[in-house]
Amino acid sequence: MTDSETNNTLSSIELAAKNILKESADNLEVIPAVALKILRLTSDDKVTKVSDLSKLIETEPALAAKILGHVNSAAFSLPEEITSLHRAVNLLGFSAVRQTALDQLFYNKLIKHKSNQKFDQLFFWQHCLFVASLGRAIASALNHDDPDLIYSAGLMHDIGKVVLESHGKVSYNDFILASQGDEQSSIKSEHDFFGLNHADIGYVFCQQWDIPERIQAVVYCHHEYPSEESKFYEHKEDISIISIANYIAWMHGIGSTSSTSTPDLAPEVLQHIDFEKLNIESLLNQVDEEMQQTGGFYGISFPSLVELRATLVQTTLFLNKQSNLPEMVDSIPSNLSLSSLTTPHKSLIAKEIIPWTLAAIQKDFSFERLIMLNIDLKQRRLIVSHALPKSFDEATLQHFNVKVESLNRTILQSLRERNPLIINKDSGEDIGILQQFQVDEFLLMPILSDNRLIALFYADNFNTKQAIKGSCIKQIAPIIHELGIALTNAKQFELEKERAELDPLTNLMNKRMVLNFLNDVFQLPIEEIGQVAIGFIDIDHFKKFNDTCGHQAGDDALKIVAQIMQSLTRPQDFIGRYGGEEFVFILRETHIKGAAIYAERIRKEIERKGKILSQRFEGRELTVSIGVSFYKPEYKTYEAMIEAADIAMYTSKNKGRNQISIV
Ligand code: GH3
Ligand code: MG
Ligand code: MG
Repeated sequence: MTDSETNNTLSSIELAAKNILKESADNLEVIPAVALKILRLTSDDKVTKVSDLSKLIETEPALAAKILGHVNSAAFSLPEEITSLHRAVNLLGFSAVRQTALDQLFYNKLIKHKSNQKFDQLFFWQHCLFVASLGRAIASALNHDDPDLIYSAGLMHDIGKVVLESHGKVSYNDFILASQGDEQSSIKSEHDFFGLNHADIGYVFCQQWDIPERIQAVVYCHHEYPSEESKFYEHKEDISIISIANYIAWMHGIGSTSSTSTPDLAPEVLQHIDFEKLNIESLLNQVDEEMQQTGGFYGISFPSLVELRATLVQTTLFLNKQSNLPEMVDSIPSNLSLSSLTTPHKSLIAKEIIPWTLAAIQKDFSFERLIMLNIDLKQRRLIVSHALPKSFDEATLQHFNVKVESLNRTILQSLRERNPLIINKDSGEDIGILQQFQVDEFLLMPILSDNRLIALFYADNFNTKQAIKGSCIKQIAPIIHELGIALTNAKQFELEKERAELDPLTNLMNKRMVLNFLNDVFQLPIEEIGQVAIGFIDIDHFKKFNDTCGHQAGDDALKIVAQIMQSLTRPQDFIGRYGGEEFVFILRETHIKGAAIYAERIRKEIERKGKILSQRFEGRELTVSIGVSFYKPEYKTYEAMIEAADIAMYTSKNKGRNQISIV
């Protein structure tokens, strides 16, 4: 899409907005004027903004009183009473006061507005607060330039729903009622129902009210990642942070409406978030604490994350029960530990989810040994993936790596029916499995993902020999059920992350990963950077290739080059697709001669294959030009080294193509 096309789309949205709103967008009083002004106070110069902010707040006496009350509350235990807003802002800090003021204004607006049955304003407000708070926490962890802006964007991201609810010819509540039971995503349903979605209408509103462009970008793009041509593309990082915070909110049952479906997450979003820098558990705890405090400030008790998650779990279980839930989770025991139930969802990474869940079950049910057994479908074997306690020795764990066939009939039957079971001497049947596992009694529960058996949960009381009570199955079943859901989420997350890192056509690392890799290398002290070579490989006359043989053949040629690179590259070296028909290699610990040999080998192999394949490509022979730059301390940045390699590549082109040049 070109910029003017983007603009066309935007003006058609404005037109659609006119049709569905009761009055024109500039008449909408969705949030109070002072909140709008505070939202615009996002520029960098916070020192002068302190007085601006206090002046603004003073124009709203109720707000000023609330903030002074907050500063003087026991939470801050100040030695003297603070009566000046200016001092309050200085004491609490610009960000804190700005946030309190915004929260208060949004709250007033939302709660004063008559709440309809389906569009629950309090629930909605809680969602916005959560997204704002988590967004800011993520932004801070990623050293974002303005975490406060992310907070505002989080509060505002779903403002379109409020606009529709309070000013739509048909309200958001009507929409929720009409779309109950819809299979498709709610953003699509909104479009069918209103002719545009809540992100579109939110954007129209923000534009009318001069909300800063960075916030507009988040409001407009939080469900649909902008294309490179979009005028909002430059705000992709802000958009990504709020999209992921929104996604996590829904995953935790803190959606903006009481639907249980989680919004889709564009794979590009994951490109801008370095998950290694984020400790999701601690971020969530921090957000939970912040929400509890905010709730306290308004005298509302927000359910904690754990409680929210439990509600979501119960709803999910209830819905499943109505379809095809196995007998075992037909009722949720009242003494079930909420912590165990929600533990599987504290992470999106299977390597964390499993041990945390095992530990939570151990804590609640005091089993002595707990094992997660994966089912290897190819080898038809059970494989230990995690075990507790950590003191388990390898030899003992080996007893559990058994062939599926060697399990007795009762177990196989049970697994087939997805039922848990306790096996002991009284089980009657062939009890060889007890000898195999070297125990007297154990519990085995199937773990399902998308209704497929993916693993088994095993527990025993090896030393104490304490009998396992049948009743505990009922209590553990919901946790195991949640574990299955969490593992499904984790797998999805992993896939999406991978998709964000790999070029889909060639399966090589994409440009972003190439740059990440180089960035990491250049972070090292000079003496450790060592002998690095960067090479650019560009297909010769590729345009003609496409023109004569068609785009599909062009794609095939790209794949062939990628395969050749893959087959000739050592595991410690790095290759990627840099763009169109340009590939990159990065060699570590190599000397200049080694780099030349490698580049020449690639060139020759492509030339050789190209000759063989020329029939397929209508007589065209596939060749490449290569440019290599070798590390010298003069290259202060990796960009300089890339440029040198690129220039070397053009030297090869100018000298007649199908050759290599090294600098
Ligand atoms: P030169 O030898 O100077 O490099 O000439 P060239 O034709 O290879 O270079 P140019 O940059 O003029 O053209 C590159 C072409 O690559 C243009 C573009 O259509 C094509 N291209 C880029 N990405 C893809 C892709 O993913 N698939 C296909 N089939 N073609 C692509
Ligand atoms: Mg939304
Ligand atoms: Mg080319």
